[in-house]
Amino acid sequence: MNKFKVSTQGMTCTGCEKHVDSALKNIGAKNIESSFRRGEVVFELPNGIGIERAKKAIEEAKYQPGKVEEWSLKENVVLGNDDDYDFIIIGSGGAAFSAAIKAVEYGGKVAMIERGTVGGTCVNIGCVPSKTLLRAGEINHLANMNPFIGLQTSAREVELAPLIKQKNELVNELQNQKYVNLIDEYGFDLIKGEAKFVDKSTIGVNGKKLSAKRFLIATGASPSIPPISGLGKVDYLTSTTLLELKKVPKRLTVIGSGYIGMELGQLFSNLGSEVTLMQRSELLLKEYDPEISETVEKALIEQGINLVKGVTYERIEQVGEMKRVHVTVDGKKKVVESDQLLVATGRKPNTDSLNLKAAGVEVGKRKEILINNFAQTSNKNVYAAGDVTLGPQFVYVAAYEGGIVVDNAIGGLNKKLDLSVVPGVTFTNPGVATVGLTENQAKENGYEVKTSVLPLDAVPRAIVNRETTGVFKLVVDAKTLKVLGVHIVSENAGDVIYAATLAVKFGLTIEDLTDSLTPYLTMAEGLKLAALTFDKDISKLSCCAG
Ligand SMILES: Cc1cc2nc3c(=O)[nH]c(=O)nc-3n(C[C@H](O)[C@H](O)[C@H](O)COP(=O)(O)OP(=O)(O)OC[C@H]3O[C@@H](n4cnc5c(N)ncnc54)[C@H](O)[C@@H]3O)c2cc1C
Repeated sequence: MNKFKVSTQGMTCTGCEKHVDSALKNIGAKNIESSFRRGEVVFELPNGIGIERAKKAIEEAKYQPGKVEEWSLKENVVLGNDDDYDFIIIGSGGAAFSAAIKAVEYGGKVAMIERGTVGGTCVNIGCVPSKTLLRAGEINHLANMNPFIGLQTSAREVELAPLIKQKNELVNELQNQKYVNLIDEYGFDLIKGEAKFVDKSTIGVNGKKLSAKRFLIATGASPSIPPISGLGKVDYLTSTTLLELKKVPKRLTVIGSGYIGMELGQLFSNLGSEVTLMQRSELLLKEYDPEISETVEKALIEQGINLVKGVTYERIEQVGEMKRVHVTVDGKKKVVESDQLLVATGRKPNTDSLNLKAAGVEVGKRKEILINNFAQTSNKNVYAAGDVTLGPQFVYVAAYEGGIVVDNAIGGLNKKLDLSVVPGVTFTNPGVATVGLTENQAKENGYEVKTSVLPLDAVPRAIVNRETTGVFKLVVDAKTLKVLGVHIVSENAGDVIYAATLAVKFGLTIEDLTDSLTPYLTMAEGLKLAALTFDKDISKLSCCAG
């Protein structure tokens, strides 16, 4: 059998889907799934029936077949053999759980091995605890400012211990609901212990050997500590230990201002700490569009966060409880003192303990697992997904990759990973959200580019919120006017970016954005206003982007 996906125009309802299904059934197609909403038909054809015959059948049913994608079906879908398991997963985070659930749905016998806390980073020490505390910080910040005259008194110091207790309760609840309870619900084995490859098809855990036909490495990443002189002798914090503090430090220094450093720095600034964010680069968020970096920098400074850029770290020392970071900035020596020091300089893949050599799995320069377009490692029976591959480090990317792994490893579908449109969000306030190409990337990719840059003080939602530091930037292809990238700094930027993701993914044009109704007084209206900015002076418009 061969499996195909054919884009098909002309289907408008479930009746049309039935017409297409029966036309294909008549020529011998199997497992037909037509979708008028997605404009596509997926089906299998026995060897000997060509795709041209199927396209003709669709045409004769009065629909228009277009692009054809072939997914070759492996003969040996990996189930039922003499191994202990069909599929062993190392790790129990987002990538692992999405893979385990799908593998069980395929009918596989699945084991998951976890050396730490079930659920991995996101629910236990990442997304969930950081976002619930960020929300508490925002509320404290808002309670301390007068939005009508824009005055901000210094943030009231809060009692941290009860907040951490509430955070831990929420983490436990979601860890059970979204991870632990699903193990019995779906019926796979959880083995507690550290996994280590013994050979290409065997894993050792707790002194026991387990074999499987296919493996998934989903071991995630952990904080990477830079080699700064003296750091090893200092009681520094990582994102994990910072989220367990019981007292708000008077002063907090953050080394590294990527998205984790910025979020956690702002969190403690909102909780009442005096925060200094430090980074080696001269530019904040240097891989983003310059308008985004400049606006975020302005927002952080407005909020009273000290930003020290272009830093060369000389050494770090601890005197009593005091941490002292010795740096050189613009040729001048400087010492930054604080009660707590957070190191947030990126994350390194968890590969050291896996004995990957025995498995014939190759790693890259940063010890990340190297995978091909099908998420397969250099050992064709071992796949990898999520942070351990050092792709975009978001839980939704990890979960998506875990699902693709199973479609390939067990379903034999040869699906390619598609990470061409990945939205990214930094949950500061204002938030930062981007999707698609930056202006520079678009130019490097050979596009003739048009951009529109809309300051947030032109967006009604921001005006009524009285928080107008921010920007919307659209990057479009000057020839087709298709949206190539959207970059936003605003309150709720993370919610707005989903609409932008659809625009980039499905090739919407500026006109598609300007012709669509946008609810008045939502931040998403900024997208439409930014699109209108290409042709109009929006300051001359009435309300409602009309
Ligand atoms: C502070 C912070 C905030 C974040 N906020 C967000 C956010 O808001 N949104 C978002 O999308 N992403 C966020 N992330 C990123 C997100 O958490 C990760 O991208 C995601 O959790 C990665 O999932 P994973 O499945 O690849 O690995 P993980 O969830 O890290 O799971 C890997 C698991 O493997 C286990 N393991 C490792 N080695 C072995 C071994 N040898 N044997 C057995 N088990 C092993 C580990 O103990 C771990 O539990 C945040 C991360 C941090 C640190």
